[in-house]
Amino acid sequence: MKFKILLSVLLINLVLVSSVSAAELPYTYEQLSSDIIAVSQLANVETFSIGQSEYGREIYAIKIGKGELSTIIIGTAHAREWINSALIMDMAKLYADVYNNYGYEGNYYVRDVLDKCSIVFIPMQNPDGAALQEQGLSAFTPEQQEEIKKIGCDHKFKQWKANAKGVDLNHQYNAGWEQVRNNQPYPSYHNHKGYAPEQASEVKATVEYIRSKPDSIKALISYHSSGNVIYWTSLNPDIDRDARFAQKIRNATGYFLINNDWIPNAGLSPWFRKEIGGMALTIETGTFNGENEVRYSDWPKIWNQNKMVGLITASEVYQNWFNSEERQIKIDELSGNINQYKQEIHDIDKALDDIRHLKQINGDNELTIIIDNKIIELNNPLIAKNGLSYISCKDLSKLIEINETPSRSRTYSNEIFENGQIYIPIRQMADTYEIQWANDSKTVLLYSKLQTDETSSEED
Ligand SMILES: [Zn+2]
Repeated sequence: MKFKILLSVLLINLVLVSSVSAAELPYTYEQLSSDIIAVSQLANVETFSIGQSEYGREIYAIKIGKGELSTIIIGTAHAREWINSALIMDMAKLYADVYNNYGYEGNYYVRDVLDKCSIVFIPMQNPDGAALQEQGLSAFTPEQQEEIKKIGCDHKFKQWKANAKGVDLNHQYNAGWEQVRNNQPYPSYHNHKGYAPEQASEVKATVEYIRSKPDSIKALISYHSSGNVIYWTSLNPDIDRDARFAQKIRNATGYFLINNDWIPNAGLSPWFRKEIGGMALTIETGTFNGENEVRYSDWPKIWNQNKMVGLITASEVYQNWFNSEERQIKIDELSGNINQYKQEIHDIDKALDDIRHLKQINGDNELTIIIDNKIIELNNPLIAKNGLSYISCKDLSKLIEINETPSRSRTYSNEIFENGQIYIPIRQMADTYEIQWANDSKTVLLYSKLQTDETSSEED
């Protein structure tokens, strides 16, 4: 039974999702929908919808990582900027793949980064607008087509920025909305801020999602096109923190930083800084191309310049949290809980959960070992390295002494030397134990084989 579950988990991990190539552009809502189904099959990936567009398309989201802290990466508020939907989707696919393979991307151990700060990817905030820009009126029902025609911009579908009701989603937030300049007084293909903030259903869904998790979402990347620049100021509650972050993203992408304090634009990033108090950047990808979509030939460069942005952001969020007072309060609280559990060990799951959080917020990469449902206190930390986890020989001897393992009956290969100790891979204990990983991926669960056999024969 257990074997079957393990096998199916392995198979799920093997599902491959292909990345977007320039030849597959434009990236459409239909392509996004099928990609969402594909990534939802992957282990450790959660897909959902934060709401619907004015004409009923889903605003999809993908969450990766177990971190309680969180960051949002969102794109295609503007219809003609759908290349960022491809970018965000490919970023999600890459991170999911590396996460599931216990791998590194650049200098980041992806599992560690995302288990400290998860990422919620929202690839296409304006799916109606993207459909109109890419496919024209044929993407809509006859009744919807009549409504769209009333906007009076039928010659502007390729330049379209607004949603399909003619509201510019990035002038819709409650941050300088009254002062938006160059406003089109009526629905238009661009620059109509609407008749009130948060009027458009796409904006409503976004702010409601963010407001529903006010304490956990600490950063936001709002992808736009074009110009290869980063807008980073206006309404910043902590300018030093934000400058540090902006500089890191500037270094990774090579894009110029632009100060936009002087433009009240009621955009998502200024709103996020003002209402949520988090870090937010607006990144404009691709060579400047006026009122047109980004040139497809820019795609490989856009991908290479931006593929690390999510990991850099998540890592920065965690660093900020690591240096915060909030963290010390949390550490004290969790340590208190754990001491209490030690005195009255009944709720082992809760205790493990708290140990995991405590390790996370301490920046501790150690693994926990649990043998037959008992936490084992070791002298040396377990080590995760090269896709394997290791236990020191000293601790192995200790387990032998307390009869947690019958004997060291064989010689072990693949030993490593760390912290002045010899370590051996835990998987070499497989002849004595069935080895599993807890959901947190930082806890090794060992079950004595004898005991497992008895249990399974009872079940049969
Ligand atoms: Zn834009």
